[in-house]
Amino acid sequence: MSDLILEFKISALALYVAYRALMTNETPVACVFYSRESNKILSYGCNDTNKSLNGTRHAEFIGIDKIFQEYIPQEYHHDQEYIKSFFAKVSLFVTVEPCIMCSLALKQLGIGEVIYGCANDRFGGNGTVLSIHNDDREDVANNYNSYGGILRTEAVQLLRNFYIQENDSAPNPKIKKNKEIENKTYPPNLSFEQYMTKESFTSFYGPERCEKYYYVGINEHEITPKLGSGYFLQDLINIELIQQIPHIQELFVDGIVSNSILEKDLDLFLKLFYPVNESGEIDFENYKIIKIDDALVQPESLEHKKRRIEEASPCK
Ligand SMILES: [Zn+2]
Repeated sequence: MSDLILEFKISALALYVAYRALMTNETPVACVFYSRESNKILSYGCNDTNKSLNGTRHAEFIGIDKIFQEYIPQEYHHDQEYIKSFFAKVSLFVTVEPCIMCSLALKQLGIGEVIYGCANDRFGGNGTVLSIHNDDREDVANNYNSYGGILRTEAVQLLRNFYIQENDSAPNPKIKKNKEIENKTYPPNLSFEQYMTKESFTSFYGPERCEKYYYVGINEHEITPKLGSGYFLQDLINIELIQQIPHIQELFVDGIVSNSILEKDLDLFLKLFYPVNESGEIDFENYKIIKIDDALVQPESLEHKKRRIEEASPCK
């Protein structure tokens, strides 16, 4: 029986990074680049389009820049073969399906595989709008496998949290209510047939899940780490796992993080999501989620912002 526990754990890390972005008022979309070979998180990225005022600073590009800085020696920065052989062994875990721009960049780099949470309805380049990852017209050699639906509703839930915060800063702020995000159903799951071949589906999700591939109609059931059992996010992530994210301190305002800060932070993070039962249904009934109080969202200090901008390098 194929289990997807590792894939869920690494996806939970990407989700946590996205949550940290939310806590600094940035769009909660994030990714981690992971090496299956060395079981190591290579880098992470979260959207930086608001703070940098640069619409191309997507999570994927930030993570890619860090890989170039830390893993690709300078003399190979323009060596396509070297870069491709490096990225062929890298898996990207991202909370939202990569957009068309990022999908193209990932293809040029020769990324090994992509695993994502929810579909990107407007700009998705891995099957929703275009299928850059699986295009048989050009650059076929760099096609990559892309698998969605891992921690999908959680990715949507973070975006909902973000949008209610946005609404609150409108000229006539609404009364903040949990109701705005509580017990709200999610858009249907991917129609997997649209996104990948049957072979690709069964190689990743396992043949025993193949009824999900052929699902006709609206698929409201989530993928779970183990077929026949549900999950709760707290079973997938803990402080030890979070500490495997390189430069974790940069996710915190002013770069300060202690174990007790992390503990409290993880606790808050876990309260934002519903459990999923063994049938892949969201348990809205028995669990209450929280809305992040605006007071907890910390704007970045000027000094930190200055340092970050100085350290940032242009896109490779
Ligand atoms: Zn993008």
